[in-house]
Amino acid sequence: MPLSLKDPYQRRIDYLRLSVTDRCNLRCTYCMPEEGVPRLDHQDVLNYEEILRLARIVTRMGITKIRITGGEPLVRKDILFLCANMAATPGLRSLSLTTNGILLAQYARGLFVAGIKRINISLDTLKPEKYAMITRRDCFEQVWEGIRAVQETGFAPIKLNAVIMEGINDDEIEDLARLTYHYPFEVRFIEFMPFQSDDGHNRFVSAEEILERLAKVAPLLPAMSENSNGPARHYRFPNALGKIGIISPISEHFCHTCNRLRVTADGKLRTCLFSMEETDLKTPLRQAASDKEIMEVIYGAISRKPERHELDHRVLRKCISRPMVRIGG
Ligand code: SAM
Ligand code: SF4
Repeated sequence: MPLSLKDPYQRRIDYLRLSVTDRCNLRCTYCMPEEGVPRLDHQDVLNYEEILRLARIVTRMGITKIRITGGEPLVRKDILFLCANMAATPGLRSLSLTTNGILLAQYARGLFVAGIKRINISLDTLKPEKYAMITRRDCFEQVWEGIRAVQETGFAPIKLNAVIMEGINDDEIEDLARLTYHYPFEVRFIEFMPFQSDDGHNRFVSAEEILERLAKVAPLLPAMSENSNGPARHYRFPNALGKIGIISPISEHFCHTCNRLRVTADGKLRTCLFSMEETDLKTPLRQAASDKEIMEVIYGAISRKPERHELDHRVLRKCISRPMVRIGG
């Protein structure tokens, strides 16, 4: 019988973002430096047996939703095997994936059959040259093909994530939102977070400014979301097929409703994206700890989950110990 997992601030913890690799086939400027980041050794990355055991443990504790992320999850070998086995975890109600979309055309059908129906795809621009500038790889067409593939396959919801950066892609806020007139996607605008790898400029654009710009396109109607305790606020344009989501981790942080945990590819549990604290799960997993002992380690970390983060966009700060690619966004 799964428990209801609560932290000391009475937040119900039911969501795990699980990174399965620190590797990636892109080099997004806001996520990692051009030369990449030092790779984890193969033996430091949780193997599939360990990941699946962890999934079974956390679902027994009260986690009902898992999102597979990375790095780029689709570059991990045998990812379909992992997805199919994870989908069969007792107590898991929702299994989803976040991807840059590069390999999606090839994987869409397999992922769907494996049990992934919900997908988030990162897409910060509709211009191929700008895509190449932001991601340092000329792959826009591949991603668009991937998006079409998941639509044809029947994934729902399909969410497109755009990190908005001043002077880079803020001129495309309106065009990205207009996609919702033509496609049943949720286009989500995410505030840029000052991680280790940025270019030294404060490119932050607030959610408020994004909303003001969108409201000039057409009236923004509040929209319903199936995930009311998620970080996004939802809107739609009249007669649009899709929705708009606004995610403002910096300007209006949603810490008071935070329901999530993160596990990195090397098995570190993080209870807050911006916290310096990590709890090692790999060692107990590898030292024959019982499920109960691993649960105790996880309960301990949850008991120290910070009430809120203190990140402020006015102070451009390299805020955490790892770049985003090594955490799992
Ligand atoms: N590779 C996959 C992808 O790009 O979708 C999954 C991992 S990526 C780290 C997850 C999400 O983190 C992406 O949507 C990406 O845009 C977001 N992200 C990375 N760095 C960010 C930053 N500095 N600010 C805001 N979002 C960021
Ligand atoms: Fe790779 Fe995703 Fe980071 Fe871009 S945001 S470098 S695709 S992990």
